[in-house]
Amino acid sequence: MAREKLKEEDKRKLNSENFKKLYSIFQYLIPYRTKFIVGLIFLVVGSFLLMGFPYIAGKLIDVAGGDQSWYLKDINQVALALMAILFLQGVISYFRVYLFAQVSENAMADVRNDLYKRLIHLPINFFDKNRTGDLMSRITSDVSMLQTTFSTTLAELIRQVVTLVVGLTAIFITTPALSVFMLCVLPVLIVAAMIFGKKIRVLSRKSQDELAISSTIAEETFQSILAVKSFTNETFENRRFSAAQSRVASTAIGAAKYRAAFISFIIFALFGAMVAIIWYGALLMQRGEMSIGDLISFVLYTAFIGGSIAGLGDLFGQLQRAIGASERILEIQQEDTEHEEVVVSTQPVDNVLGNISFENVTFSYESRKDIKVLNQLSLNIQSGEKVAIVGKSGAGKTTIAQLLMRLYKGYEGAIKIDNKEIGTYDLAQLRASIGIVPQEIILFGGSIRENIAYGNPLATEEEIIAAAKKAHAIEFIDSFPEGLDTLVGERGIKLSGGQRQRIAIARTILKNPAILILDEATSSLDAESENQVQQAFNELMKNRTTLIIAHRLATIKSVDNIFVLENGSIKESGNHDELLGRTNSTYNHLVNLQLVE
Ligand code: ADP
Ligand code: MG
Repeated sequence: MAREKLKEEDKRKLNSENFKKLYSIFQYLIPYRTKFIVGLIFLVVGSFLLMGFPYIAGKLIDVAGGDQSWYLKDINQVALALMAILFLQGVISYFRVYLFAQVSENAMADVRNDLYKRLIHLPINFFDKNRTGDLMSRITSDVSMLQTTFSTTLAELIRQVVTLVVGLTAIFITTPALSVFMLCVLPVLIVAAMIFGKKIRVLSRKSQDELAISSTIAEETFQSILAVKSFTNETFENRRFSAAQSRVASTAIGAAKYRAAFISFIIFALFGAMVAIIWYGALLMQRGEMSIGDLISFVLYTAFIGGSIAGLGDLFGQLQRAIGASERILEIQQEDTEHEEVVVSTQPVDNVLGNISFENVTFSYESRKDIKVLNQLSLNIQSGEKVAIVGKSGAGKTTIAQLLMRLYKGYEGAIKIDNKEIGTYDLAQLRASIGIVPQEIILFGGSIRENIAYGNPLATEEEIIAAAKKAHAIEFIDSFPEGLDTLVGERGIKLSGGQRQRIAIARTILKNPAILILDEATSSLDAESENQVQQAFNELMKNRTTLIIAHRLATIKSVDNIFVLENGSIKESGNHDELLGRTNSTYNHLVNLQLVE
């Protein structure tokens, strides 16, 4: 399962090679460097300012006790100085956070854009191998992870390091004896926290995995809700989901046991350490080696230092996850796109006639290398001819269409259009010369107008209406109150199959390709809409080389030539009457099967 694999990959070692990966994403910040650097300066200044706080707070107590050695002599003045520092620090933090957000949001929008551009240009075969959910999570959550890294994590890292260094320096300068004592206590705490922390992380990872599994169940059932209902399997699905839920709960509770123990230990240990430090400080004070103010600033510094150490521990885990995320993003950026350069042109090949030939084509899909879907297949189609390919389901008919559009590479033999190997054409031009109407039409979630114009984004209103007329779609479009502006719903769900089909035909009419492929385009229609759709198809097929892939033989009686596909190659060819005339032909057999049906 891809989800679990993702979890495993989540964390990466912090070695130089992995940091290089993070760095390559970091480079997206370069265009925004000025703001980034100003933000960094604010960050460092703010952190330093805050570290003055414990020192002055200590002075406040000493001044109150009558100490006049500092240059502020009055407690009101000192208190004001404290407030001033806090205020200044607040203002600086505001600008720092805002600047970092601007930089990281812009940079990550760039990362998402690059990623999307790359993904959409990857060959179909990549999408066969990768699940949509996985790709989506790279664009969304992985990039968000990095966004947090470059805004918060990085800032925190710098802030905590400043706190740690300044804090340690300050206490060592003011009270060296107590500092040494503290350094003996602190490591015990840190080690304990690390051990507990690891155990808790492992357990909460496990409960997250369980949660992911249960949401997969929910996702699947919602997507196939029709199947669930028609099999009345609601109760079954309910049980499956609730079993997953109890696993989520029990692992989470297991983790909570450790967290509870950890929290009570930490509270005890932390305050114990504080008591020890205060006790030792009090001892030093009794001996006159330290003022109350010094002790107070010392305790405050210790709290700051403790906080920064804990914070750094967290950051470590976040950096590891950020590396995992950047790796998954880079993986996609390293995939080869279909076109070497991004092609802007969507013009069809100049003066294309539409002669098609397959010469001894052998092909296997990458995921099933051992099965030859096409085996030494040869066929010829003359410009303007209407031909049909028939064959059993799974015979390879759609594969032929996909190879012609160069959706898959890696076939043996030659596939030519107008006597030129298809690989020699510009890919965008080649695809602009071929129109395909598939069996299941999936529209985009916009208006009917937008969906028709998808065939040619430059089409005028008149052209769109003309195409809708030719596709026999105008009648039903006009019957909607909103006309062309009618929204079709997600994937076109608000339209009937026949209506979707006619919109797809109008779209292809606008595209105006020289070569047309109808891939079982009428097989799922009812008799009534089939009639109208058939008229639309007749209009569409005019003056185009047309390849009809069909398993309903009624639709292909009148074509010029029929190819019968079997075992990966063309078994027979000829027109309907010729093939029917041959005794023992596969075609005869197919026709008989349908007559029986
Ligand atoms: P048809 O259109 O004639 O029903 P297809 O061309 O869709 O058949 O499929 C031919 C064979 O190739 C089938 O066995 C199918 O399972 C397999 N196939 C189709 N698409 C893929 C793919 N993307 N990856 C692997 N195998 C595929
Ligand atoms: Mg098919």
